[in-house]
Amino acid sequence: MIQMKNVEKSFGKTKVLHNIQLSVPRSHVYSLIGPSGAGKSTLIRTINALETIQGGEILVDGVSVHDKKTDINKVRTDIGFVFQSFNLYPHLTALENVTISPMKVRNVSKKEAEEKGKELLASLGLADKASFYPSELSGGQQQRVAIARALAMDPKVMLFDEPTSALDPEMIKEVLDAIRRLAKSGMTMVVVTHEMGFAREMCDQIVFMADGRIVEVTPPEQFFTNPESDRAKDFLSKVL
Ligand code: ADP
Ligand code: MG
Repeated sequence: MIQMKNVEKSFGKTKVLHNIQLSVPRSHVYSLIGPSGAGKSTLIRTINALETIQGGEILVDGVSVHDKKTDINKVRTDIGFVFQSFNLYPHLTALENVTISPMKVRNVSKKEAEEKGKELLASLGLADKASFYPSELSGGQQQRVAIARALAMDPKVMLFDEPTSALDPEMIKEVLDAIRRLAKSGMTMVVVTHEMGFAREMCDQIVFMADGRIVEVTPPEQFFTNPESDRAKDFLSKVL
């Protein structure tokens, strides 16, 4: 579903992604972990062209994302992205945040968008929050609205960049539970996370990055008990 081939990324003269090779099969969940500054956010942002690349190719469901001939806005509608900061529209209610893109971008009728939006909010435990504004919601609730908003577009892929890092501890579980359910539903996902327990328990592969490189791609049990690289051993000795 996602294929990264020889991807190179620089900011000015500084190279931050080196020869990235990664294939994420359909319905698989890959966790991207590694030290701060490793390039995790940059990597995940190249997948829906929030960042340009200077070399290589990225295919999402066979579409070359960075090809000049590709309509990137169309590709982006297939890729849900959930950020650390929830990025909801402050002047719209929870339900309006969820329905605006299907109505504007996909020409879905208001009635249909609202029906589906309410279903999505309910599935994320937010049935009674549809008419609330972001400022009236907790961080965990806002992040679940952000997930509902992404899902409203029926994405083929969901990308998460540290979705729980800005949350108070008691709200982390409700967001992780939502992501876990999404994984069980067969969604293809890449999740940048510092929640090691979560990564260990729910993903198919750990992608460990350091210094702009993918150091290893390893099944979670093996990664957390016997990682291949010294770099990962060192990282785990600091975080576990
Ligand atoms: P991570 O998410 O793993 O902490 P990032 O992808 O945010 O790492 O950053 C990787 C490297 O790229 C860092 O050295 C960072 O300083 C640099 N970087 C990230 N964004 C920019 C930017 N917009 N301009 C210049 N350098 C950047
Ligand atoms: Mg980051």
